[in-house]
Amino acid sequence: MNDDHADVIIVGGGHNGLVAAALLARAGRRVLVLEANDTFGGAVASQRVFRGVDASLSRFSYLVSVLPQELIDDLGLDLELRSRSVASYTPVSGGGILAERPEAEATARSFATVTGGEDEYAAWRRFHRTVAEFARVVSPTLLGPLPRAADLRAGVGDELWTALTQRPLGELIEAEFADDTVRGIILTDALIGIFTNANDPTLRQNRCFVYHVIGNGTGEWKVPVGGMGALAAALEQAAGAAGAELRSGARVERIETGDSGATVVLADGSRLSAAYLLANCAPSVLAELTGARSEPPEGSQTKINLVVRRLPKLRSGLDPAVGFAGTLHLGQGYQRLAEAYAEADAGRIPDPLPCEIYCHTLTDPSILGPELLEQGCHTLTVFGLHTPARLFVDDPDGARKQVLQAALHSLSEVLAEPLEDCLLTDADGRPCIEVMTPLDVEAAVNMPGGHIFHGDLNWPWLPDDAVVSTPAERWGVATAHPRILLCGSGSVRGGAVSGLGGHSAAMALLELTGPATPPPTYS
Ligand SMILES: Cc1cc2nc3c(=O)[nH]c(=O)nc-3n(C[C@H](O)[C@H](O)[C@H](O)COP(=O)(O)OP(=O)(O)OC[C@H]3O[C@@H](n4cnc5c(N)ncnc54)[C@H](O)[C@@H]3O)c2cc1C
Repeated sequence: MNDDHADVIIVGGGHNGLVAAALLARAGRRVLVLEANDTFGGAVASQRVFRGVDASLSRFSYLVSVLPQELIDDLGLDLELRSRSVASYTPVSGGGILAERPEAEATARSFATVTGGEDEYAAWRRFHRTVAEFARVVSPTLLGPLPRAADLRAGVGDELWTALTQRPLGELIEAEFADDTVRGIILTDALIGIFTNANDPTLRQNRCFVYHVIGNGTGEWKVPVGGMGALAAALEQAAGAAGAELRSGARVERIETGDSGATVVLADGSRLSAAYLLANCAPSVLAELTGARSEPPEGSQTKINLVVRRLPKLRSGLDPAVGFAGTLHLGQGYQRLAEAYAEADAGRIPDPLPCEIYCHTLTDPSILGPELLEQGCHTLTVFGLHTPARLFVDDPDGARKQVLQAALHSLSEVLAEPLEDCLLTDADGRPCIEVMTPLDVEAAVNMPGGHIFHGDLNWPWLPDDAVVSTPAERWGVATAHPRILLCGSGSVRGGAVSGLGGHSAAMALLELTGPATPPPTYS
């Protein structure tokens, strides 16, 4: 079946596909990446979205945490990840909770004012110390074969392990914190991109939380200087320099499998074969391409990109250059998150919409052209929760307008002036607002259902009773076919901008085909 063109074909040139391409090409494999879109990076991308507006927006993903610095160094990526001066700000009537980075007096003061005492801040610090212990144990395992749960549990300790991985996260939050606002700040990390609630017995929320707190042992979310496109460009450069062939505008329409490899059929009917295929597309896309049955996942977020002439003033009086520098939590109290979940579950777009907002340009102005910089313009990123794809199916345009209104409603509750007064207009006189529902994300980057992780997240480890006998299983990239490996967000620990899906796929493939070991035949 192999036409000797490539040893490995990678379906999809998202950031994980590029990581795998770079690692495999560097190890001497002939690699061909086939990307449907005209550009590489998938949901890791920058784009000038508004006509005549020189702002290169991180159109989909926007912050980086889970990508190991060791992998960045190993690939020699020209990438700077910059810390934000503020972790988060959560306005509540008459004030707000400010979490500085590093936390100092203003943080303690804001907790005391909002929560009415010292206890909640003490609990906050205790909680973060505990979570950091967990991160310190799990994080170093991310670039190796999947560890066993028991080994991690031994390092983490039984009590913490049980609280974070065996019981719904809501129980831990409710036990540790009394204040609704503080509880909500913690919970949001468990809800990013997924449709669930604090006490979901499937522990979906716990898995999402774990990904949000383990990155590089600290869980800090950093700003990619130059925008997300800078990461995609650095990876494209690394893969190309290592000798991988990268083809854009090459949508794979079908995959045929055989004992000695796989053949892909492109839209123009051309056929390409290789001994191994890596699927950077989502598992449900892979299933469709191979003719297997699968239920596509459902995304649950709305991304709104904006450019403003100036940052709007905050009702609390806090300097907007501080309030917008970190993650600004809106409508994300613990109780409100539960209500919003129930509203969406009943078929309504939650209004006001729980969302988080941040301003990239306060930390990294380089994504603006000189004219916009001079005018004092800024970009704003809104990530709305609890907006499952099903809410947009019947009337995509009407529901898109509705979700924007719900997000603006949330904002108006904390702003001292109308956002409309601050919006920049594009060359056609239209306000610089782009709203992307899960359906829009699906249309743009073929993430099924617009699910930002290609499907439910898994724990980044192996259950103790899991039987693993192949490199693909050890690295969490196995599929139903031994010659096809997952290479993206849908692999066992591929979630988020992490490169881990691509790294794991490359390591498994090198183990399978390394010089000392001839490629095995499983069929
Ligand atoms: C709106 C949004 C915000 C997010 N925010 C963050 C964030 O701030 N931080 C973070 O860590 N994560 C974030 N995420 C999640 C993160 O972006 C993804 O988990 C990650 O980018 C997935 O990378 P990937 O390479 O596995 O897949 P993708 O980025 O989905 O790339 C897959 C590639 O495969 C291509 N493809 C699919 N089907 C075919 C086919 N048939 N033929 C050829 N090519 C195909 C696609 O075009 C795409 O380029 C966000 C995601 C979204 C959508």
